[in-house]
This record gives sequence, structure tokens and C-alpha cells, in this order.
Amino acid sequence: MTQVISPGKTIGILGGGQLALMLILFGARLLYYKVVVWDPNPDSPAFKVADHYICAEYNDEKAFAEFSRMVDVVTYEFENVSAKLLMRLEEAGIPVRPKSSVLVSTNNRLNEKRMFQEVGFPALPYDFPSDDGKVPDRFFPGMLKTISGGYDGKGQAVVRSVAEMRSVWNDRFRREPAIIEPVVNFMSEVSVVVARSLAGDVRAYPAVTNRHENGILRETAWPGLRIPMRATEIATAVACGLDAVGVITIEMFLTDDNELIPNECAPRVHNSGHWTIEGAATSQFEQHVRAICGLPLGDTHATWEGRMLNLLGDEILAAEHDWADNPNAFVHNYGKKDVRPGRKMGHVTIRNRKIA
Ligand code: AMP
Repeated sequence: MTQVISPGKTIGILGGGQLALMLILFGARLLYYKVVVWDPNPDSPAFKVADHYICAEYNDEKAFAEFSRMVDVVTYEFENVSAKLLMRLEEAGIPVRPKSSVLVSTNNRLNEKRMFQEVGFPALPYDFPSDDGKVPDRFFPGMLKTISGGYDGKGQAVVRSVAEMRSVWNDRFRREPAIIEPVVNFMSEVSVVVARSLAGDVRAYPAVTNRHENGILRETAWPGLRIPMRATEIATAVACGLDAVGVITIEMFLTDDNELIPNECAPRVHNSGHWTIEGAATSQFEQHVRAICGLPLGDTHATWEGRMLNLLGDEILAAEHDWADNPNAFVHNYGKKDVRPGRKMGHVTIRNRKIA
């Protein structure tokens, strides 16, 4: 199997959302790769800029044949992609990066907790909701989370008692497999975007501070202040433990007593790394392409300090005007057709101070 994918070859991306769009614009194009995007949604933002796109369900055999014929390496922009599909591509001899086992270890909350435990940085304790009320009191107030399929705050709910847990799990969650973990009173939320190359080199971006609303990221401040070095150690341990090739992201809670508790690992570029386009020596998108194609990793230093705001729903409509007078504000409009409340329509990166 060819390990290094040289410029001019074709990257296949599963998923055509904004992450794929930016992987093309700020990664593949910059490094002279072609891109084929596969997504069942005809309005996928990345279709507009891909060299070729396939609009078909992920279990469509014709689409599989077309995609596998065209691509030299495959990556994905969301973790709800089917692990079976990744395995089939691997069996067909196409390198998938990060490999399917990385997805399996991170696409389900139980596997994810097991993985954090295995690399020596345990996540929050958990139990399973049930009708017999056996969940101990220390789990309340608790966060009920579906085991798989949740994102941007979907598939999760705060519950204050066994009775509430039972009713939410039965009615809202329709008894879908779920876990309950204690609600953490964190000081802040932190994430680290880290890249691991084909040669095993690891480079982490500075840890950042994130603010979520209703489970959706609203704001990232970079570099995050007073974040223990351990954040980077956790991210590095996860990237190496998973034997991942590519960019991955670890989200953590920073508690009042400066303890870091890992929460999630996304085996992909991440919303909290968008600032790297205008604020770091190498963007996370270029870095991911470098890693999956076997090129040396770029410099991850922050060149500016600043913040990134997500533009949700109709906030996108006036954004260009709102930020027009600020030469250090960079508006990204993903060009999604349907403006829906809470939907990530774009983001703006605001640079505050150049780092000498
Ligand atoms: P998740 O889907 O696990 O990333 O959760 C989305 C967001 O919900 C997190 O970024 C937190 O803001 C919040 N959250 C999730 N789990 C907990 C928890 N156990 N305690 C407090 N907040 C949580």
C-alpha cells in the first residue's frame, strides 16, 4: 500500500459539510490535491468546491465503486460515518486516515470512556438509566446522553432525580441506549487540537477555552489562559494511544481545583480549531491534509491571540456588514441554503493581538 500520497493525487472525504469545505479550501487546494466528496445531502457546502462529488446514500454500491476508483486516501469530517464503510475501503486497499479503529474507539460514548481510561486519563464515571431506580445519588444532577449519534447538544439532557431520568429516558429518548454521568461544575471548557503524522510525529496546537450554549459551541478564545500543561499531555496520549494519523480533537472540562477531565474525542478537524486559519502558522485543515498524505507536519504556534464566534441561524445574514469595519475580523459564510435557528451557518475569527 502506498503510504505517502503525493500532491496531485486525490483525497476522498466522507461528509460534505463545512469541515469538508474548509479542508478543501484551506488544506487540499493549498497543497495541490484533488478532492472527491461523498454525501447524501444535495445541499452539501463542500460540493461547490470539490473537484468531483457523489451525492448518494453511504450504502449505495454504485457510489462505493465510483468513490473507491477515484480516491488515493480517504478521510471523514464527522464521526457518525459508518465504521463498516471505512473497513470496506480499507479492505479494498485504500488508506483510511484516521483508520477505522480510531473511529470505533471514539464514535460511541462507552468506547470513548474506555479509550480515555486505557490511555491513563479517565473520563467521568457513568451508569446506565433504567426503570428500577438503581442509579446512585452521586450521579444527580446528571447528564443523560445517548451512547451514539449525539452532536451539538442533541441526544443529551440534564436530569435532577431518578424520577426525571426515568421519564426523560422513556419519553424523550424513547429508551435509546444511554448513559448518565454527573454534571460537572466546570470553571471552563478546554480543547486541544493535535496532529499525528504518518511517521508518528505529534504536534499540538495551543489549548483553547470554549463556551457552549445548549450544547453548541458559541465561542473559542485562543490561546486559552491558565490551562494546565496536562491538557496537551492528554491530547498527545490519546493521539498516540489510538495510533491515529491526522488531526484529532480532545474536549475537556477544567474544574475549579484545576483538574482536567476528558469529555470527548473527535477524530477530525474541529470547530474549536477554526481560529488556526487566521491565527496560527499552519491551519488545522492544512495540517490534517499534511498528516493524512504523509507530508511533514506544519508549525502549530499561534501567531495572534483572539476569539472565534460561531454564527448561528440568522446571525449570518448581517455578519459581513457587522464586521466590515474591523480589518482583523474574518467572516466565513459556509453558504448553506436553509437558515435554521441554532444551525452553524458560518463563523467569524477576530484577531486581537499579534504574538511577537
Ligand atoms: P458533549 O456532547 O458531551 O460534547 O456535550 C456538549 C456540551 O454539553 C459540553 O461541551 C458541555 O458544555 C455540556 N456537557 C456535557 N456533559 C456535561 C457534564 N457531564 N457536565 C456538565 N456539562 C456537560
